[in-house]
Amino acid sequence: MNLLLLLPEDFVAEGRARLTGRRLQHVREVHRAGPGDELKVGLLGGSMGRGRVLGLDEEALELEVELGEPPPPKLPLNLLLALPRPKVLNRVLASAASLGVARIVLVNAWRVEKAYWKSPRLDPENTRAQFVLGLEQARDTVLPELRLARLFRPFAEEELDGWAGEGLRLLAHPGAGEPCPRAVEGPCTLAIGPEGGWIGAELDSLVRAGFRTVDLGPRILRVETALAALVGRLY
Ligand code: SAH
Repeated sequence: MNLLLLLPEDFVAEGRARLTGRRLQHVREVHRAGPGDELKVGLLGGSMGRGRVLGLDEEALELEVELGEPPPPKLPLNLLLALPRPKVLNRVLASAASLGVARIVLVNAWRVEKAYWKSPRLDPENTRAQFVLGLEQARDTVLPELRLARLFRPFAEEELDGWAGEGLRLLAHPGAGEPCPRAVEGPCTLAIGPEGGWIGAELDSLVRAGFRTVDLGPRILRVETALAALVGRLY
């Protein structure tokens, strides 16, 4: 945790926050902070700054908070991700938030198991908690926007164009033959497939929606590795 994320309800008075639970434990056990120490803090969805430790015990952490710095800009990147299996989902959401992805849609695909859609990991409390872990890691305060598309075709054919908006549309697919472009700077929508890959009909729909298939060379990467490698290439 490189940034302590605060919520409005943590404030007990103006400029004064009181934290318990996971964040208290982390500051005690990992930062090993004591009175007078300064920690990087940020208000969820707001600005960042410093928190001076006023008091710390097993019950609570009290901070004097000064905010004023803006969070880092997001990447102009939309991520269309075939729903990964639940264990992978948590890691991918946290990494996407750390990398600065602005918007994510989790879509169904032929090779996504139906049961994945029933996972409690898709509950908003969990997806938000994973994003928070990613933001705390990267020092950002703004949650990515998340949307679920449980049906591939209606989303791809009716909504994707509007959702993706301006900019490049890239479909990461091993063996595409065209290398993924580098340092694109402008907005981009990137589609990443399921563990088993996209099927032909899905590739066709995405190509009809204006996506270009690109690859990162002959190595087949795990979804979370592919995401980091693709974002590193693009921005
Ligand atoms: N067996 C599948 C592998 C899927 S890997 C197949 O052959 O398609 C899961 C996803 O990660 C892929 O759908 C793709 O979006 C991305 N990915 C993994 N390795 C990649 C590579 N070398 N180039 C481009 N995308 C890759």
